[in-house]
Amino acid sequence: MKLVLFLIIIVVHQVIGFDVIREAFELIDENVNPCDNFYRHACPLYKSGIFMLNSAYEDLMYSIEAKFVDAEWNNLDVEKTFKRTLYKELPSIDEFIANVYLSLCQDIDATHSQKEAFLLWVQNTKLDHGGEPCIFDKCLKPLAHDKNCTRAAANLRNKMDFETFDIFQKKWRNNFDYAKTNLYGVNAILEADVRGGIVRIRNLVQKYVDKLSDWIKETPWAINNKADNMILDVVNQLYVHDNLGISLRKNLDYVFTIEQNYLKCLRDTKQSTELEIFCMLMACSGHYPEREDIDFFNPFNAFNDHPHLHFSYILLDMAEKIKNDAAFLGSVGYIAGHEVSHTLIEDANNLQLLPYFSNETVQCIQGQYQKTCDSYKEISCGAVDNQIDENGSDMLGMRLAYSVFNDEYDGSYEEDKIQLPDRTVNLQQLFFYSTAFVSCSGLKGNQDVRDTHSPWHIRVNAMMQIPEFRQAFQCDAESEMVKSFGEECVIVGKNAPQTRK
Ligand SMILES: [Zn+2]
Repeated sequence: MKLVLFLIIIVVHQVIGFDVIREAFELIDENVNPCDNFYRHACPLYKSGIFMLNSAYEDLMYSIEAKFVDAEWNNLDVEKTFKRTLYKELPSIDEFIANVYLSLCQDIDATHSQKEAFLLWVQNTKLDHGGEPCIFDKCLKPLAHDKNCTRAAANLRNKMDFETFDIFQKKWRNNFDYAKTNLYGVNAILEADVRGGIVRIRNLVQKYVDKLSDWIKETPWAINNKADNMILDVVNQLYVHDNLGISLRKNLDYVFTIEQNYLKCLRDTKQSTELEIFCMLMACSGHYPEREDIDFFNPFNAFNDHPHLHFSYILLDMAEKIKNDAAFLGSVGYIAGHEVSHTLIEDANNLQLLPYFSNETVQCIQGQYQKTCDSYKEISCGAVDNQIDENGSDMLGMRLAYSVFNDEYDGSYEEDKIQLPDRTVNLQQLFFYSTAFVSCSGLKGNQDVRDTHSPWHIRVNAMMQIPEFRQAFQCDAESEMVKSFGEECVIVGKNAPQTRK
């Protein structure tokens, strides 16, 4: 009987899945006061893994990856050639191609059309721009008539200017990984049943759009600059992208275009180890859709490709499985708020979607992130201009999430409390904990100069901008979190800046 019960529990656990936010409470460091450093209280250094959510989802991701071991996109011939090539033993790409041509030219079994095809691949890949007929010395086909193979190869060598093998290898290791990460990410969503998660996020995004619409109608800087109606229009275009079939197709098109070109090149020329490397070079260096054109779905990410909002597998799974709305709003809700806000937050000096954005607001946002950085720097941080979009989206995003939380619970925070060993966590605290947990990293926060996001511990501790944080943890005026608060930045709404023209 006991065994049967045990099995039932296991099955139920697998079907319902786990509520990652509930489990994350085990991480908390009670020795750090939430009012002194909330992020490190919730996500202690070294204890919370490189990124807690990735560790929590590791087994699930592993089982998804295992399902696709034999998938065609996971067994591309072009990638196999890419991996087995011994780059260190090769000369420059230009030299290598010239040498391969020399061998082909001297090969008595090679036909004239194979030589021509070889030259055309180089021409189309490297010398042609946009499929126009070749001009002047960029037409390589006549070279196939030159019976003096050394002269022809030298001639070819002089016309090329490929990148180094080193750069090529780094770039394509990255591109293959990127494409596969996408394919795992999209397939994970298609395989799992996360329709409930999609609906839950879609409903939340609608609430955010409605809220923003109300706030914009009252925003002095938008009204004073006659930008309110256009901003309203832009915000109301937003919707959650759920046609994963399109995302899957874009990703498959990307890898299969490369694979098909590789196989065609081999058919056009000749089979040999050197020609395999040549064809891999040609297939990868052609004019294809840029990598940036394919939807990026790693297992954990979200992005705003206005008007589409994209949410990855882990976020959809969380939206499906986190039962408590306060936990959902603090975690997925915060990320969704951030993505929605990307449509509205713009660098006032570099406007893209909006006719106007308040410079005063930008100054306030950046001031807060700098102040949080001054208080909580671990390795490096700092509010620089290329972070305006991300910092602003964080700030407005958390306000949106908290505002929906507030509407829903309206001060009743005591039901459904979470019991920790020596205290309970109420729903208001749960909201804030969930924001920390969705971003938990045990590594010291470091500002990568290429990354436009602030480090996670800064992003989370900047939640002091929500006045209710102080109340939730009863922080006194002398606590570090309260001291790290600058001035309240109201981005949109009736208390936002006037900023007259
Ligand atoms: Zn962002």
